[in-house]
Amino acid sequence: MLKQRPFLIETLTAIGLILAPFVLPHLGFAPNTVNRILVWGLFGLGFDILFGFTGLLSFGQSAFYGTGGFVAAYLLTRAGFSNVLGALVIGMIAAAATGYLIGLIALRRTGIYFAMITVAIAEVFFFVEFNPLSDFTGGENGLPGVPTPSFNLGFTTLHFTDGWSLYQFIALCYFIGVIIALRIVRSPVGAIFSAIRDNPLRATAVGHNIHGYKLTAFVIAAAYAGFAGGLLGVLQAFMPPDAFTFDTSGQLVMQTAIGGRGTLFGPLVGATVWLFLQDFLQSALGLGAAWKLVLGVVFVLLVCFLRGGIVGGLVDLYGLFSGRRRKVAEREEREAEAGFALEAPPAPMQAKEVQHPAYSGPILKATGLTKRYGGLVANSDIDFSVDQGELRGIIGPNGAGKSTFFKMLTCEIPPTSGRIVFEGRDITGLKVTDVCQLGLTKSYQVNQLFTGLTVRQNLTIAALAELRGKFRLDLFRSLSGVKGLTEQVEHTLALVNLTRRADTQVAELAYGEKRRLEIGLALATSPRLLLLDEPLAGMSPRERVETVKLLKSIARGRTMIIIDHDMDSLFELVERVTVLQEGRVLVSGSPEEIKTNAAVQEAYLGGVHGEIAA
Ligand code: ADP
Repeated sequence: MLKQRPFLIETLTAIGLILAPFVLPHLGFAPNTVNRILVWGLFGLGFDILFGFTGLLSFGQSAFYGTGGFVAAYLLTRAGFSNVLGALVIGMIAAAATGYLIGLIALRRTGIYFAMITVAIAEVFFFVEFNPLSDFTGGENGLPGVPTPSFNLGFTTLHFTDGWSLYQFIALCYFIGVIIALRIVRSPVGAIFSAIRDNPLRATAVGHNIHGYKLTAFVIAAAYAGFAGGLLGVLQAFMPPDAFTFDTSGQLVMQTAIGGRGTLFGPLVGATVWLFLQDFLQSALGLGAAWKLVLGVVFVLLVCFLRGGIVGGLVDLYGLFSGRRRKVAEREEREAEAGFALEAPPAPMQAKEVQHPAYSGPILKATGLTKRYGGLVANSDIDFSVDQGELRGIIGPNGAGKSTFFKMLTCEIPPTSGRIVFEGRDITGLKVTDVCQLGLTKSYQVNQLFTGLTVRQNLTIAALAELRGKFRLDLFRSLSGVKGLTEQVEHTLALVNLTRRADTQVAELAYGEKRRLEIGLALATSPRLLLLDEPLAGMSPRERVETVKLLKSIARGRTMIIIDHDMDSLFELVERVTVLQEGRVLVSGSPEEIKTNAAVQEAYLGGVHGEIAA
């Protein structure tokens, strides 16, 4: 939604902010309430980038809200600083710097542990604000006397004092906040944020430094929080100590859930519902503190029945009405795809010749590779070598150690002993991201896709890693500005026969299509050595035939190692086969040699598989 019509959202936001003072008073909103909503909305823009887009749930945003707020308020009330906007920016920078340091610690853990660390950090900040730093923060009295902004234009001075006058300043800050947030979520970095939310493991495996990107999201959220905290002081002419409380963080999370995460405007809408209910139920209906009971019910109902929150619900509704034509088109596409499966398939697109470096020895050489899990030896002293342009198959009964071997080659897991050399360079002990950046990656046995994204977006994530490197802060560049991205994504779409499904959500794909996308994700990183872990797993016989054709086309000019249990298909594809048994190399040879090898027959007939019998 956010990417389709450039400037539409910006224009609608501007119109909404201009009309608000004329419309909202008729709906019972006081200017002070609207200003408070905008401050929460601005606070939430950063939080939504962190939580909604990157999937990191922090309960510690009050630490940055308070830091920015108190730094700005201190400068304006105690340090003789008179430039309000300057103080707000300095508060924002202080919050961002704090966010960077906190992020370095908190992001060492994921999931619930990350959330708990943020809770603890917020509590520490609350304590520090009240005790050691109370001389600077005013302790429980806060900092009174925060001035409102005024701008000397030479010929006149603009004062933004209170009510709708101050609204103009806060609304402008919010608008700029929206423009920046939209630029970020539409940038390559924004795309990678969504990939991290959907599947951090795969985002790492296709070559992105996800720690760096998570830290970026954390700092962005802290910066927004810091600026909003400063605005709170300006709005209330007083910096309240409760900006630092856990309640502030909790309220932000709940408002974002009510309004809709991953929408940027969700926190604003959530704050509107929250503050309207608070004013209406508490004051107009005289419910007092019991208003939170009603709020609790509203929250539970919304979270249960509108999982995307209010904005998410509205987007779905819009999609329901506007998506009929798209659905018909997609059904036609799917029928065409089904036809494609039943009838003669179009020739898959020819693979581009892969550029090989000047290096001339074997592309991959593993020596004495061993992996132990406690007493269990999954791989034992494996020597293995693959030449440039070779197509190698790996077979072996279940539990023979094939997947473990692949995981070591791609550096997902470190070997207990042994060395791996890729294109003459020792890669033993490197990280999976770095190895992918060097040109070695794999497709997974169990699909590892970005399930909340479309096919095209999936491939975009993978291609970005190759085109931009593992970390780059091009926060304000649009995706279309990344040179070669469109070509690489379109080429990969064609290569895996998914061009017609490019704008389909992954969840709507058939299983065989998901498997092709799985291979496409690896291909989009333009690997010089591609490992395929059971690419045919779970496919129907017809899908297998199609995929083997596809793999033959992909293989042209590439070096590939393929594990599969479907021996007929594998022997048709590869030039040489290595057989693993009980973690060791049993034998290597041509498919013909392997088929007739007595030891291999023994290994299979003695094990669970009987397919080897030619
Ligand atoms: P294959 O892919 O050939 O079926 P695997 O490489 O998955 O074999 O497994 C080889 C052996 O290592 C099996 O006995 C398996 O149980 C064991 N193994 C694999 N991963 C782990 C792990 N993370 N912890 C303990 N044992 C493992």
